Amino acid sequence: MGGDDVQRVKDGLARMGAAGFARALGIRKIQASGTSVRVPCPVHNGKDPNCDIALKDGELVYMCHSTCGEGGDSLKLLQGIRNCSFKDALTEGANMAGVMLEGASPNPEKARIAKAERAHFISQNIPTEPPKRLPVSELETFWESCPRACDSTSVSGWLVGRRIEPEVASDLDIVRALGDVVPSWAHFKGSSWEALRYLAIIPLYDSAGELRGVRGASIARGVLPDGMPKRLAPMGGGPKGLVMACPTARAMLGGNARPGRILIAEGEPDFLTWATKGLDDVATIGIVAGSWTPDIAARLPDGAEVLIRTDPDGPGDKYAEYIYETLADRCAVLREDQTEVTGKQ
Ligand SMILES: [Zn+2]
Repeated sequence: MGGDDVQRVKDGLARMGAAGFARALGIRKIQASGTSVRVPCPVHNGKDPNCDIALKDGELVYMCHSTCGEGGDSLKLLQGIRNCSFKDALTEGANMAGVMLEGASPNPEKARIAKAERAHFISQNIPTEPPKRLPVSELETFWESCPRACDSTSVSGWLVGRRIEPEVASDLDIVRALGDVVPSWAHFKGSSWEALRYLAIIPLYDSAGELRGVRGASIARGVLPDGMPKRLAPMGGGPKGLVMACPTARAMLGGNARPGRILIAEGEPDFLTWATKGLDDVATIGIVAGSWTPDIAARLPDGAEVLIRTDPDGPGDKYAEYIYETLADRCAVLREDQTEVTGKQ
């Protein structure tokens, strides 16, 4: 465990904020004021709110004004609560913050299983043969025929329902509405995307930043009928090796931009949410199953900070591990906690 790891975990915990950290510790009674919270001391199991957890100079610190009468940083607090070794506190802190430890020396059996799982995952996600692609000219004609999302009442409503600004998304050109052209491949089980109300069209780009695919998103609210996915790939043109990309990310893939930070979101709603946040110098990429490949990874600039915001579940963990694997030797890769994500389904 290197000193770097300690700082990265502390930074990761600090990003959760005092309230987020307290919640993650399982503390129920939280009085928040500004960037600090007052809670019953979790170290001595106090009943009254005598312990302060605060964000100071970019670091979380705590102070118990009662029985313990002492304080320290976030890792000391974690260690005090769990009554464990510093190393165990660091590991738990890393898990809480979604930070991957670089200097960790994991149990060899666990490492062997993790490696085998990753190899299996990679073998399933890297196409062994060239992925099927839609005819480029047909795809371009289709995309050109799609009106701006903000000009479609139904697609605008779908976006607003996810707290995504239709105007902003339209200006970034990261989603459009299905127009008059409905190609033969924009069908599912014999019905057109139009008939099925998959009216939000999201473009997908290859590792050179070229438009090579689309996905149709259902604008229906709530649960879809049996067997209907929320998003559809065209017949004969899946998303393997293709990503969603904001203009900065498209320029980066095309070799025309070197953004300092890259944010990787999972799924269409999260991608649209993050891409429309207006973050400076951030390239936002959206992935679905099979999107991420070594070719895509190779387009990210050396030394970039990569924030992985995949879902905190099994597949999300696997995507994050795989992305980490393809970038860790030349980028700073962080997995961020999900509390700020809005507009999720
Ligand atoms: Zn205390």
